[in-house]
Amino acid sequence: MSSSSLDTQLLAEKEQLKKLKYGLNKAQELAHIGHWELDIASGELFWSDEVYRIFGYTPQEFGATYELFLKHIHPDDIALVNKSYMDSVSEKRGYHVTHRIVRKNLEIGYVEERCEHEFDAQGNTIRSIGTVHDITLQKIAQNELSLASEVFAKMNDGVVITDASQKIIKVNEAFCKISGYSMEELRGQTPKALSSGWHNHEFYASMWDALVTYGSWSGEIIDRKKDGALYTAEVNIIALYNDDGTLTNFISVTNDITQKKAQENLIHNLAYFDSLTSLPNRVLFQERVMNRIPFMQRKNKKMALLFIDMDNFKNVNDTLGHVMGDKFLVEVAKTITSVIREQDTLARLGGDEFTIIIEDVESIMDIIPIAEKIVHAFKEPLLIESSKLYTGVSMGISVYPDDGESYEELVKAADTAMYQVKETGKNNFQFYTRSMNERLTERIEIENSLRYAIEKNEFFLVYQPKINLDTHSVYGMEALIRWKHPELGLVRPDKFINISEETGQIYEIGLWVLRQALIDTKALHEAGNMLIVSINISSKQLENKNFITDICAVIKEVGVAREYIELEITESHIMNNIEKALTILNELHSKGLSLSIDDFGTGYSSLSYLKKLPAQTIKIDRSFVLDIEKDEDDRSIVATIIAMARALGKDVIAEGSETQGHVDTLKSLNCNKIQGYFFSKPIVIDEFREFIRTF
Ligand code: C2E
Ligand code: MG
Ligand code: MG
Repeated sequence: MSSSSLDTQLLAEKEQLKKLKYGLNKAQELAHIGHWELDIASGELFWSDEVYRIFGYTPQEFGATYELFLKHIHPDDIALVNKSYMDSVSEKRGYHVTHRIVRKNLEIGYVEERCEHEFDAQGNTIRSIGTVHDITLQKIAQNELSLASEVFAKMNDGVVITDASQKIIKVNEAFCKISGYSMEELRGQTPKALSSGWHNHEFYASMWDALVTYGSWSGEIIDRKKDGALYTAEVNIIALYNDDGTLTNFISVTNDITQKKAQENLIHNLAYFDSLTSLPNRVLFQERVMNRIPFMQRKNKKMALLFIDMDNFKNVNDTLGHVMGDKFLVEVAKTITSVIREQDTLARLGGDEFTIIIEDVESIMDIIPIAEKIVHAFKEPLLIESSKLYTGVSMGISVYPDDGESYEELVKAADTAMYQVKETGKNNFQFYTRSMNERLTERIEIENSLRYAIEKNEFFLVYQPKINLDTHSVYGMEALIRWKHPELGLVRPDKFINISEETGQIYEIGLWVLRQALIDTKALHEAGNMLIVSINISSKQLENKNFITDICAVIKEVGVAREYIELEITESHIMNNIEKALTILNELHSKGLSLSIDDFGTGYSSLSYLKKLPAQTIKIDRSFVLDIEKDEDDRSIVATIIAMARALGKDVIAEGSETQGHVDTLKSLNCNKIQGYFFSKPIVIDEFREFIRTF
């Protein structure tokens, strides 16, 4: 072979070698695998370009050494790598190790190293050859994956992964715990296996709708466990798609909230239900009414509120104790429930107050039978622990929208109607009426302004003469109170005496009347008109323990002789508490004051009591006088009263004589004392003075 052809061949081989080297380098770069060789005899170490690249250097920077290599191993892994190599050398075998490296830029990487040794004929190691595989990217991915699967395995929420056809591929431990099924039992099933039958078709349809449209759904589902128990789960489901948009999986995350739900229910029950009767309480009642109003409005229907107050409850509680009181209320709740319809809501507002909501009422007439049934249900006594407890209902009814369009208005109206029932005899029902409201407003107005009436000097007295027919003279006068109200004008006593009795203000008012009447009487006396003055006394005044002391003080202060003072007390008031009245009337009598029994004939006095009453005069009620000419009965009643009074040595006067006929008839019945419009209406003191002057 010529030298030139040798040259050509060498050149070709060199070219070939270059090509190979390039290919090897490229292949190593692509595979992230470098290689190294260590010549044991010379200690010379070779790194392929890829090894340099893995450590973050260029081959030109410096030559490879074992020390340099060790320097780039993660400090925690140096011992492992060193030992692997040394052991493999001494044991004359290859090794395989995975460890961390620290690149030039201090980044941490992962490499997998394999190494083998070559030996001479005597078996001495002459060379080590190894590969370094940069597995950092795989390692990161693998770490992430194992983190994810650890989370999947250990998380508290149950996770279910299905394929596109909803077949379960995988569930985690938590889901097995929640559902009671094992992974094996669930694999291949669809989540329908857990369905409780609680939700209807529409529920699932809207869930799938959301999954298809938005790719996710979340909500509460009631499912069934393997043992049959239901559980409430908060569920989030997402649909997974691959890059080309095909649906691949569903992943659902389930949180068992049964306990939380139970707690919520408990709180709900405490907040909305009465613990004694288990009926809805005031809060739920209000919510329901407010809730239903817009419905009724839309449907153009009425809704009734029945307000019930139990008669006699206070009595039961006070005399039999709270335990019986509670049993009584439970029994009342049962009784009402048994007579109302299922669609009506009964609630307990507290104490002995119950309400019923009746919806979808066409006409008020529909409510009457329900109300009647309830009233009727309490005609028989309640049997509680072998005691018979008599009770009754006082029921006020308001109707939406007639009596109000808001909760407040309806409640107020029903309440007003209920009080009306209480006042007029209980154990009945009553619909709210507008006039009732007007009366109530007036009453509140009166009650409020009554407090300042004395202070503001709004009261004054009028006097009605008492005539002696025998002597044809004015022998006395009755003082009657009037109230000049700043807004309501002149208010008659029947409008405010009752109220002042309820509020207790009658006591102050009574003393004011007494003082004013005595002042006017004293003036008359001083002018030579020795008239007897009659002053009306309410039984509420008598009940005050200071009454006698106080009136005696006023009498003394003004200075009118006691024989000219007469106190008129209504018969029915005395009869309400006869024993007590007798004591105080006797005491008044002993102080030298005269007593007259007002409105006689209306209070059912028995003769035996009449005998005991220390009253000098009986005043026949004007209701008997009104028809005395035509009505035989009235006439004989008046005749009897007169005869009886005479027999007991008492004086008689008839009030309400309006006509000559009244006067004549009374005279014929031997009644010689008369008071009434026929002679004069009650008049102010100046007119009264004029009246007696000209009589
Ligand atoms: P009373 O004590 O029976 O007074 C008689 C009532 O009959 C008075 O009404 C009087 O105006 C009215 N009257 C008198 N003659 C006739 C008549 O011929 N025909 C008719 N239809 N009525 C007649 P008044 O002043 O409205 O008083 C009503 C009631 O108010 C009184 O009934 C009395 O119970 C009470 N009252 C009035 N003033 C006082 C007071 O100062 N203190 C107390 N505690 N009650 C009073
Ligand atoms: Mg009177
Ligand atoms: Mg009277």
